[in-house]
Amino acid sequence: MPFTLPLLPFAKNALAPHISERTMGFHYDKHHAGYVKKLNNQIEGTDYANMALEDIIRKADASGDSGIFNNAAQIWNHTFFWDSLSPNGGTKPDAPLSEAIKTSFGSFDDFNKAFVEAGKGQFGSGWVWLVSNAGKLSITTTKDALTPVLDDSIPLLTCDVWEHAYYLDYQNRRGDFLQAFVDELANWTFAEQQFQLNGQKDYWSLVEERSA
Ligand code: MN
Repeated sequence: MPFTLPLLPFAKNALAPHISERTMGFHYDKHHAGYVKKLNNQIEGTDYANMALEDIIRKADASGDSGIFNNAAQIWNHTFFWDSLSPNGGTKPDAPLSEAIKTSFGSFDDFNKAFVEAGKGQFGSGWVWLVSNAGKLSITTTKDALTPVLDDSIPLLTCDVWEHAYYLDYQNRRGDFLQAFVDELANWTFAEQQFQLNGQKDYWSLVEERSA
């Protein structure tokens, strides 16, 4: 079965003015849909066809199939990013995630500052993540299509810092985009669910259950 582009969990205009409908149109309909189309073309008739998305990501990385890796990882990362956003976001997490944030970062405000700074500091294209390792939280960044799927950490939340994510709305002001993410858009309900699941289920299997 070829991959299909997962539905957005919100309307394309629902995040405005923080992320415009125009940005969502390009980002979802062109970029994200493009990764799905390219991956399906690349894996047709190969050993990768019929594999789960996380397995494709790991195998392509191990085998040096960079084209397949990039498209598969970007499908995963973008789907996770849409889930990390909410029109009603920018709230605060509840316990136990709120307690883990306090333990790891000092306070929720300190976490938000560190997340924005990490995203600003990622040179070139990439992603900033809140991840959990055995309940201990940290902020990481990945370059281009690289993804926490490749390590043992459990991602809870991400923000895309490729220029295509913010340039139409913020031009070069990546920091303002990241500030809008933490203040207005971050979906803590989703992060709490991922924290509670603690990696017991692959994220992509949840996406597939949801769209079945
Ligand atoms: Mn993107």
